[in-house]
Amino acid sequence: MNVNSENKFISTISHKLKTPLNAILGFSELLVEQVYGTLNEKQIHYLKNIHSSGENLLTLLNDLMDLMNFRWGETQLNYSDFSLPLAINEACESVKNWVAKKNISLEINNGEGVSVIRADEAKFMKILHHLLSNAIKFTQPGGEVKISTQFLKAPTDEGSPFSPQIYIEVTVADTGIGIHPQDQEKIFSEFYQVDPNRSQDFEGTGLGLCITRELVKLHRGRIWVESEGGKGSKFSFAIPKVDNQV
Ligand code: ADP
Repeated sequence: MNVNSENKFISTISHKLKTPLNAILGFSELLVEQVYGTLNEKQIHYLKNIHSSGENLLTLLNDLMDLMNFRWGETQLNYSDFSLPLAINEACESVKNWVAKKNISLEINNGEGVSVIRADEAKFMKILHHLLSNAIKFTQPGGEVKISTQFLKAPTDEGSPFSPQIYIEVTVADTGIGIHPQDQEKIFSEFYQVDPNRSQDFEGTGLGLCITRELVKLHRGRIWVESEGGKGSKFSFAIPKVDNQV
């Protein structure tokens, strides 16, 4: 199979799998809402399991498609101008209920002058959302998550005729379980989870950071982590600030 037909084959399978999956998700939701009659607690509990398993499967399928598209070089960026502080607020708003449920304090700290940026907004939101979700997921109830932004000037050689490149840096810091040094590079690879035995406590596919890194790379940026086991983690990414039409 050549790359084009492999690409078409996998996209078709993914679409074919999504049709029955959407039916499972839709009908299980209707049943849980007791639209078709009253259910007992056990029935509701198992239906909720069916629904959340379906959602996990859908996430896995979407993640796999994203990864395949990166491999095939088919992911393109649609640049637009948008407000970074508003994007941060929106990402925090989307995890509001989860944070409240876990009694985690979520703090935003926008650096001086941080305003409009130019990037692929949907993909940028995906990066923010994934880092924020991981920070909440791996932080114990009562902990803290902080998201901060700043515009940074890269140092240039003395006397250089070029103006310094400005970078947008976003950091998501948590007080969670932390990551030991030997795992810090590995967590960006496909399917790597530090403790797969605890996947029941921390649901996930092990693909999120791999996709996040690809999305940062597409923006010509880089992502890194600073952490100590048991003492929280700090994920940061920096992308060049683009001012002109791309
Ligand atoms: P997933 O979260 O779906 O397992 P990711 O690719 O997002 O997959 O992360 C890979 C692994 O990196 C996680 O399973 C976890 O072991 C570790 N990890 C990611 N973010 C954090 C964090 N904020 N704190 C502690 N561990 C983390």
